[in-house]
Amino acid sequence: MKKKKIVIASGKGGVGKSMLSSALTMLFAKKQRVIALDCDVDAPNLAIWLGISSYNKSVSKKKKIIPISVSEKPIIDYKKCDGCGLCAKSCRFSAIDMINGKPKVNKFLCEGCGLCEIICPQKAITLKAVQSGEIIVYPQLTSKKTKTGYFLIAGGLFPGETGSGKIIAELKKMADEFDYPLQILDSSPGTGCPVTAALQDSDFAILVTEPTPSAFSDVQRVLKVVNHFKIPYGVVINKWDINPIVSKKIEKWAGKNLLGKITYDREIFKAVSSFTPILETKLKAKEEIEKIFKELNLTLKF
Ligand code: SF4
Ligand code: SF4
Repeated sequence: MKKKKIVIASGKGGVGKSMLSSALTMLFAKKQRVIALDCDVDAPNLAIWLGISSYNKSVSKKKKIIPISVSEKPIIDYKKCDGCGLCAKSCRFSAIDMINGKPKVNKFLCEGCGLCEIICPQKAITLKAVQSGEIIVYPQLTSKKTKTGYFLIAGGLFPGETGSGKIIAELKKMADEFDYPLQILDSSPGTGCPVTAALQDSDFAILVTEPTPSAFSDVQRVLKVVNHFKIPYGVVINKWDINPIVSKKIEKWAGKNLLGKITYDREIFKAVSSFTPILETKLKAKEEIEKIFKELNLTLKF
């Protein structure tokens, strides 16, 4: 079965991607089997927006944590090393220091490029795979209030590690193994590797923005990536009322691709900090997202 994939992207961080991803997951789950993918591997927080606390023992016991290795780091064999210092001098990332005549690798600076392994005259350096992150597969999650059940798979890169795009590729492979027809992917901010990895092979993109010059500029940048992949898209303006003038400009720019707007509300943050999903509240944002969901269903060609 070909899975349909909807990616929520934004360009700028903090504009409401995860809020929208969580609410859309719960809304779609009323109609069909859905998996939510947290592709913001540098700062995954979709679980929180879905109301999952790490103190929830029943979920914690059942979740599966899969270690992921997507990068390599040099291991030095000090029996072979004669302390010539060539590796330290040659490393472009200054990741090797000579300490008391012996090379020491700083794993936070090392990019795993492999140059030191190639140039070491004593063949004392070997690149070895390291655990660079993990993927968490949550048990099926249910909301009694919205009467929905869905899965969540979240990727997480360890601090200082590289390979965010690769970890997302692994995450997507894992999600494809589920016989679930719809995937909602909560992407990273920006336009870099993790965003292109999330967008690749997707069927629709929802671009979330807010009425600030930086968010407007960033959403236009991410649209270039979306257009590169020829993915149909819709636009959502979050916190539209904090600057109605810029908001109008964005509406004009989005044209017929505008899916809807969400009003700024401090109560949203109170809800998320108490692990209450937006769809389980009576906030205005809930109604507005339900309207966006209806509009999205009219727009989707699947
Ligand atoms: S290049 Fe090889 S031999 Fe020279 S200091 Fe580095 S590890 Fe040791
Ligand atoms: S693998 Fe590359 S970045 Fe890492 S220490 Fe060796 S030369 Fe430097």
